[in-house]
Amino acid sequence: MELENAKKELLQLQERMSAYNHAMGLISYDGETTAPKGTAQNRAHSLGILSEITYQLSTGKDTVALLEYLDAHKDELTQKEKRMVYLLIKDIRFMQKIPMEEYVAYQKLTVESQDAWYNAKMNDDFASFEPYLEKIFDYQKRFAHYAAPDMDPYDYWLNEYEPGLSRRVCDEFFATLRQRIVPLIKACGEKDQVSDDCLKGDFSEDKQEQLALWLMETMGLDRQHVGLSTTEHPFTTSLGSHLDERITTHYQREDVSSSLFSVVHEGGHALYDTGSDGDLAYTVLDGGVSMGIHESQSRFYENILGRSKGFIRFLFPKLQELFPDEMRPYTWQDVYRAVNRVQPSLIRTEADEVTYSLHVMIRYEIEKRVMAGELSVHELPCAWNKMYKEYLGVDVPNDRQGVLQDSHWSFGAIGYFPSYALGSAYGAQFMAKMKESVDVDAALAQGDFAPINAWNKEHIWHFGSLLTPREILDSALGAPFDPAYYLRYLEEKCRDVYGLDY
Ligand code: ZN
Repeated sequence: MELENAKKELLQLQERMSAYNHAMGLISYDGETTAPKGTAQNRAHSLGILSEITYQLSTGKDTVALLEYLDAHKDELTQKEKRMVYLLIKDIRFMQKIPMEEYVAYQKLTVESQDAWYNAKMNDDFASFEPYLEKIFDYQKRFAHYAAPDMDPYDYWLNEYEPGLSRRVCDEFFATLRQRIVPLIKACGEKDQVSDDCLKGDFSEDKQEQLALWLMETMGLDRQHVGLSTTEHPFTTSLGSHLDERITTHYQREDVSSSLFSVVHEGGHALYDTGSDGDLAYTVLDGGVSMGIHESQSRFYENILGRSKGFIRFLFPKLQELFPDEMRPYTWQDVYRAVNRVQPSLIRTEADEVTYSLHVMIRYEIEKRVMAGELSVHELPCAWNKMYKEYLGVDVPNDRQGVLQDSHWSFGAIGYFPSYALGSAYGAQFMAKMKESVDVDAALAQGDFAPINAWNKEHIWHFGSLLTPREILDSALGAPFDPAYYLRYLEEKCRDVYGLDY
C-alpha cells in the first residue's frame, strides 16, 4: 500500500463514519425531542441496523489492514494523522473484543431503556425501569471485561470518560473536596438564609424561550449552526461538531433559573464543540476530547461566569424587560444572592455550586458499589435515599426526585458523573489562569464574551480531540491540576454571599 493513498483512505473512512454517526445521532435526537412517544421500537430497529453497519465498517478487514499499515508507518504521519490512527485503532480494539450480537443488542437496549426511564420517571415507578437498568449494568461490566480483562470494570469506564481517571484518583479527589465543602455548607447554614423568591413566579414559556435565545447570542453561539429545543432532561448533542450542534432545555414556569442556567451550561458544551478547527471536520478529532474537559467548559459558563456578579448585573435589565412584574420588587443584588444560595437539595442539575459535588459523590459511590457487585440494582432507591440523608441531610420523597432524576444510566453512561465534579474543578483553575491575561470582570460587566471565548478557543477548543485531556490541562494551565483553586473559589463565593469570615 502506498502511504499517500493510505492517508487519503484514512480521511475517507472517517467521512463515512461521520455520516453514519450523523444519521444515528439524528435518530436519537429525534427520539428525545419531537418523535411521537410510541416510536421507540422503530428507532431501535433502524439504530440496530445502522450500528451493525458501523460495527462492520470499523472492524472490517480493510479498515483494520489500513489502520495497521498506517500505525506501522506512524513516524511518517503528521501529528493529526497519528492521533486519528491512535483513536480509531483504540475503538477497533474495543469493538473487536465485543461480540457483534451483543454490541447490536446493547444499542437496541439503550434506546428502549431511555424510553423506559422516561415513563418510569413520569409515573414514579422505579420497578418498571429496574430490569432495563440491571441489563445496562450487566452489559457495562461485561464490555469492560471483554475490553480489559485485567482491569476493574468501573476503573475501565472511568478512564473511558476521562483518560487517567480511576477509583483511586476519584477517592482522593472527592475526599479533598469533602473535607472543605462539608464545613463550608455548615457555615453558610448558620448564617441568615438567602431568599430566592426573585427567581420564583410565573414565567411564561414564550418569554423564557426569548431569554434562552438571547443568552445563546450573548454567549457567542452561532445560531446558524446551534439549534435549541426542549426535552425532559437538558443535553447537548453533536451532529457534526462545529457544523451542527443541538442543545436542549426544560422550561419551568414557576422558576426562571432552571432553564436559564441549563441553556448557559449546554451552551458551554456547544461552544467547545463548535470551536474545533475547521480542518478537523468529518474526522474523529472534531469536537471535545473528554467528558471532564467538556464539563469544565459547560460548568465554567454556567457557574463561574453565569453566576458571577458581573454577569448577573448585566443580565438583570434583560430579566426586567422580559418579566417586568416578577422582577419589579427586586434588584440585581437579590438575583446574585439567590442564584448563589447554598441549600442542600434533591436535584443535582438545580443544585448550587457548593453542594453540587456531594450529589456527584453519591452517584459515584453508588456506581462503584453496583459495579463491584456490592449493591444490587433493586436496592438502588433505598441506597440513594439513605445517602441523600447522610451527605445532604435531605429526605427524598419519591424516586422521581430521587434515583430516577437523571437520564445517564438509561443510556449506559456509567462512570460519567465524576466528570462533572472534575470539570468544575478544572474550570476554576482555567479561570485563575485566564485572569492573568484577560480582564474577565470588565468583559462580563458589558456582556462581552468575545475575549473569554477567544482565550478558551486558543487554549482548549481549537484542538478538538487532537490533544489528550492531560496535554490540554498542562498546556493551558502551565501547572499541574490542583483542586485547591476550586475550593478557594467556592469559599470566596460564600464569603461574598454569606459574609463568612472564613
Ligand atoms: Zn454537561
